[in-house]
Amino acid sequence: MKITFLGATRMVTGSCYLLEIGRKKMLVDCGMFQGSKLVNAFNERDFMFNPGEIDAVVLTHAHIDHSGLIPKLVAQGYKGPVYCTKTTLELCGILLPDSAHIHESDAEFANRKGLRAGRKFIKPLYTVDEAYASLKNFVVRDFDEEFDVIPGIKAKFKVAGHIIGSAMAEIFAEEDGKHTKLIFTGDVGQPGAPIIADPEELQGADFIITESTYGNRVHKVYDKAEELAEIINSTAERGGNIIVPTFAVGRTQVLLYYFQKLAHEGRIPQDIPIYIDSPMANKATQIVLGNPQEFDEEARAIYEMQGKHLLSMKQLHFTETAQESRMINEMPGTKIIISASGMCDAGRVLHHLKHNLWREDSSVIIAGYQAEGCLGRKLVEGVRQVKIMGEDIRVNAKIYNMKGFSAHADKEQFLEWYGRMAQKPKAFFVTHGEIDAAMEFAGELQRRIGTAAYIPQYGDSVTISGSEWTVTEAAITSDVPEVASLKDYLRTLERTYLQHRTKIEQVVARDTGKVKDIRKKLEKIKKYVDDMLSSL
Ligand SMILES: [Zn+2]
Ligand SMILES: [Zn+2]
Repeated sequence: MKITFLGATRMVTGSCYLLEIGRKKMLVDCGMFQGSKLVNAFNERDFMFNPGEIDAVVLTHAHIDHSGLIPKLVAQGYKGPVYCTKTTLELCGILLPDSAHIHESDAEFANRKGLRAGRKFIKPLYTVDEAYASLKNFVVRDFDEEFDVIPGIKAKFKVAGHIIGSAMAEIFAEEDGKHTKLIFTGDVGQPGAPIIADPEELQGADFIITESTYGNRVHKVYDKAEELAEIINSTAERGGNIIVPTFAVGRTQVLLYYFQKLAHEGRIPQDIPIYIDSPMANKATQIVLGNPQEFDEEARAIYEMQGKHLLSMKQLHFTETAQESRMINEMPGTKIIISASGMCDAGRVLHHLKHNLWREDSSVIIAGYQAEGCLGRKLVEGVRQVKIMGEDIRVNAKIYNMKGFSAHADKEQFLEWYGRMAQKPKAFFVTHGEIDAAMEFAGELQRRIGTAAYIPQYGDSVTISGSEWTVTEAAITSDVPEVASLKDYLRTLERTYLQHRTKIEQVVARDTGKVKDIRKKLEKIKKYVDDMLSSL
């Protein structure tokens, strides 16, 4: 059996693993790369396999970095099943068409100017129709139900506690009379997080392909409900609004859960209206509310107590239309407005920020990861003036950066969880983490679990026979970490250079007028590199 790592290698997006056994092939996840322009460009490339030759896909969860290329896979000839949990299918039913919609508008925008400038017509990565068509390939399997994937491979979903529907995929392989158990963790949640059940305890496996998003960090532990209560109460006293930019799936529902708890316990006024102002967040919330079988004990108790409703708040409003959204700002009194996008780079939240950032009495709660350069990051960094939809806006509102809401287990949580396994794996393959996180996590797994931990590069593969394993590329030496990390850094530089080279070639092919400018820049870079490294 061979596993090839085709994404989420030394980065957190683009999850995709190719498994080959005999003549059969399957994928675990088929995710989209999300990040800089260069990273996104990977989505446009041909797959590293022929989609028509893949016999099955096992999908861990609905997030686009795991599911986002399935419509492309199907459009390019994949005809087999996409196995996933019931809730993952429901979420993909909103996330994939939404992703397609973004690709269609991006392509349309590029073509509007591009065609006039004589550039080539750009096709969207996939269309809304293709996204809906791909959903027909989805086949639902229950948690803990063992099912046949391809000859020689059975699989079972285990609760991963990351978002609703999220699963780890246990893979049972049999080849030439030898048995191998693998676990693909997908993304794993924090134990104790509200609403959904905790990640299931693991028995162990021969090999574990583990995520490492927070592999070098430990979440801040504090009373989040208390901090939310303080923010809401002080803002209400001032008469301002509370704006919460948030991600549709997961964070929105967790915040609602806290708001309900605080209101019921009388720790915040019961009559402050809460608006969920994002069609996506509305749909995602309905999916979460409609799947009580995935709740943890506490959520289930509330659900039963409230007559089979997890959320029962008279003050909660879901707004659908853009007009309803605009009307929220005209209403007097303190309001809590939960709106997308989570990084404040698009969507309705921009409009709420425009109306509230200048107000000294309002507050903004940032409760999620903010990528470099996005508006949310600027607010967290304390910028006093921002531009929103072409308008200069003064930042007078109070900005709160609430940490610890992450949907990923941290380093310590992972190590404790893996430490409790009865069967130690032969090796971990550390993926789905930036290189710093993956390196530190791999090191800790070696030290504390006492097993090998390999950080695959894009395209690396491992051949497995029973519990024996061989990586096709020489493993990075773990006994001299400084050298290993430098080697690794050099490889990253090489890859960056190659990506830039491809990009430059594309740019000048379309626009020769840029040659001079690019050449000047390159000469500067070359001189700098020569000066820096000639003294070695
Ligand atoms: Zn995820
Ligand atoms: Zn992920």
